[in-house]
Order: sequence, then structure tokens, then C-alpha cells
Amino acid sequence: MTRPLVAVLSGAGISTDSGIPDYRGPNGLWRQDPEAEKLVTYEYYMGDPEIRRRAWLMRRESGALRAEPNGAHRAVAELERSGVPVRVITQNVDGLHQLAGMPARKVLELHGTARTVVCTACHERTPMEDALARVDAGEDDPACLTCGGILKPATVLFGERLDPVVLGRAAAIAKACQVFIAVGSSLQVHPAAGLAGVAADHGARLVVVNAEATPYDEFADEVVREPIGTALPDLLRALGSEDG
Ligand code: ZN
Repeated sequence: MTRPLVAVLSGAGISTDSGIPDYRGPNGLWRQDPEAEKLVTYEYYMGDPEIRRRAWLMRRESGALRAEPNGAHRAVAELERSGVPVRVITQNVDGLHQLAGMPARKVLELHGTARTVVCTACHERTPMEDALARVDAGEDDPACLTCGGILKPATVLFGERLDPVVLGRAAAIAKACQVFIAVGSSLQVHPAAGLAGVAADHGARLVVVNAEATPYDEFADEVVREPIGTALPDLLRALGSEDG
């Protein structure tokens, strides 16, 4: 028997146990602080060296690169290792699914990754770690070493659009999967949230694991309100044994 394809859509809630706050959700830190939001808004970032200087300092202070995956990230990777076909679609930019052991090719990062920087002129990608080392060494707005262009994180800033290729692949997974688990996402930010609806419309079993109610709870086959760190491993273990 073919094992069912499991899609996991993860949002900020899966990473809060790893010490990463919700930055970009509807009630996230960025949205509550207009000055902070400028640091992650493309137009301001590109137009103002002072904004970039502050943005680099913020990235240096955040310590996000030092965050470790938690039990929920590990449970997803373990399900994949057990032989169940798993694809992760994440709204997070922290790279913690991959650090937990999910193969990178099976993780779609809708909002990009904060572990890489990209040159806005020549599009060369280099590790964030290297750019932060230059900030540590005294550069306040490190430029591309290849062409001198402005560097930004390889994340989707406000005012930038999502990568249509990544989004297309995510939609294809939502249509093809038999189980769609939305975890730690408020399911309020489109188009990511709409993927839950696409999955349900195409016959997937929809499971919502989130502390607060979401607009998709009424379409879900199962809604789990318990803490993600314990609820998700339990849920995925049950899924792994039921299909094995
Ligand atoms: Zn460049």
C-alpha cells in the first residue's frame, strides 16, 4: 500500500519553544512596532543606510542563528525518517526543520531563510554568519564582496512578494497530500493560510494544532489546542504507527 503523503505547514508557534518569538504574524513583534517594521520593509531597507545599519545590529543581537530545534521539529524529522513521505511548508525563516534532520529538499520556506544573505544586485547568496562576522568586525552595512551591492537576508521582507516557484510547489503539495497538519500558524497570513483550504478542498484530512482558534478550525477534521511541544510528537507518532 502506498503510504499517504503528509504535509506539515508550520508557523511561528512551532519555534517559540526554541526561543524564537513571533515576529511577522498578525500580532507579531514587527506589526506592533512601526519603527521595527521599517527594518524589515523592503522600501525603507533599500532606501536608507541608517535603517540597514540598525537592521544589521538587530540581527546581530537577536541570536536567532544560535536557536536549536525543539521536540516538535524533531518529531517531524523522525516521521520522515520512519519512511512516511513528509513535506514541510514553513512560514518560518529559522531553518530549524532542517537542523532537526529534515532533508532540505523536502522543506519549502515560504518566507525564505534568515541563515543566508542575498545580494540585491547580483543575487549571490552567502551565509548570514559571514555577514554578521563582518558586522562584529566593525562594518555597519556590509556590502556584497563580489559586486558592492546592498546585502539583505534571504527572507521575504514586507513589500516583497513570495517566490512564485516555491508557492507553486507548496500549492501542488497541498493538493496532493492525504494529511495536512497546520501547526503553530494563526492561518491568517495569505497565501500560506489558503493552503489549508486547498488541502481540505482536495480531500486531505486537515489537522490544526495551534494555541488559539484559527479561521480554518471549522473545516478541520481535528483541532488540537494542547502545547505544540508535546501535542505534535504524540500526533505524529500516532500517524506513523497507524500507516506503518
Ligand atoms: Zn553582488
